Amino acid sequence: MQRRSNGIVHALLIRKEGLMITPSTHSVPPSGELCEVASGIYWLRMPLPFALDHINLYILEDEQGLYLLDTGVQSSQSKSVWRQCLATLQKPVIGVIATHMHPDHCGLAGWLCSEYNVPLWMSALEYYAASTTFAPTTGADTSVEMNYFIQAGLTADHAQQYVNDRTSYTQAVAPLPLAYRRLVKGNVLSIGGRDWQVLTFGGHSPEHVCLYCAEGKLLIGGDQVLPYISPNIGVYSREPEANPLADYFASLDTLAKLPDDTLVLPSHNVPYVGLNFRCNELREHHNTMLVRLEQFCQSPVSLLACMPQLYERKLTGQLLFFALAEGLAHLNYLHYNGTLSRQKNTDGSYRYQTIA
Ligand SMILES: [Zn+2]
Repeated sequence: MQRRSNGIVHALLIRKEGLMITPSTHSVPPSGELCEVASGIYWLRMPLPFALDHINLYILEDEQGLYLLDTGVQSSQSKSVWRQCLATLQKPVIGVIATHMHPDHCGLAGWLCSEYNVPLWMSALEYYAASTTFAPTTGADTSVEMNYFIQAGLTADHAQQYVNDRTSYTQAVAPLPLAYRRLVKGNVLSIGGRDWQVLTFGGHSPEHVCLYCAEGKLLIGGDQVLPYISPNIGVYSREPEANPLADYFASLDTLAKLPDDTLVLPSHNVPYVGLNFRCNELREHHNTMLVRLEQFCQSPVSLLACMPQLYERKLTGQLLFFALAEGLAHLNYLHYNGTLSRQKNTDGSYRYQTIA
């Protein structure tokens, strides 16, 4: 990286493990510092209080002011990082864009929009999914949530623990703005002399927004295609019969057709070049999981029993919660494509078996 006198650094490309990454993993900008990855596009690495300890946020500079792309979770630390960075840039904030509904992406949207009196831009499904997911559920019938965990093979006590524990997730999100501006696939946003085409994808979340600038060969990728980790493709209690892996494979097909020298600005890890290579890797990762499940389910097994086939480490708490969701996404995919049958056992769990 090259350091400029105003504290903003510039990124340099280096090659590593089949991808061109920028900058090296040893020289990512410290939290609170801005790195200009292309002219007028600033990368901000915001700390997160999770195992995944950061999110990459981007600031797009326009003549009129700044668009903030994703927000970080609700915390005093995130707010102070935002204040510090925006003071460095010395331009007014004119809009907040959230790629999708997850707390690290829209957790501070309500605060930022209110603090700077600007609109929130989101796709419709993401806005409404966030609005319902983080809304209080006091008095609601939680038996469907219990069923989700019982069907996975958990005991009733274990299932109840997950149903009771919503707080860590919901507290990470400030109340969302009560109005938003809708991003639709095919829209073009003109920001800072660049035309950004709105692309939307399922799989990781219902209508995840990516922004693609064809002329500059830039893709703001959100969580859809991350360089070193695989985005969670999960089936959750809100839609237990969903088949997001099919949507995710479709998104990889589309993204792999973009020019391979596109600079991808992802929400985690570091910016990279090598979209086609990475789409293939991600597809292979999920195909490997599908093959393991198909082989393991020769006799009827529950989702919980499949976990050691998919993950080497011991899973508890939040890790198990997300692993179950991802495992179910793969089982549902195999169920819908006719590879696995599914029967309900006397204990309420589903048992999956490979169809001969
Ligand atoms: Zn996400």
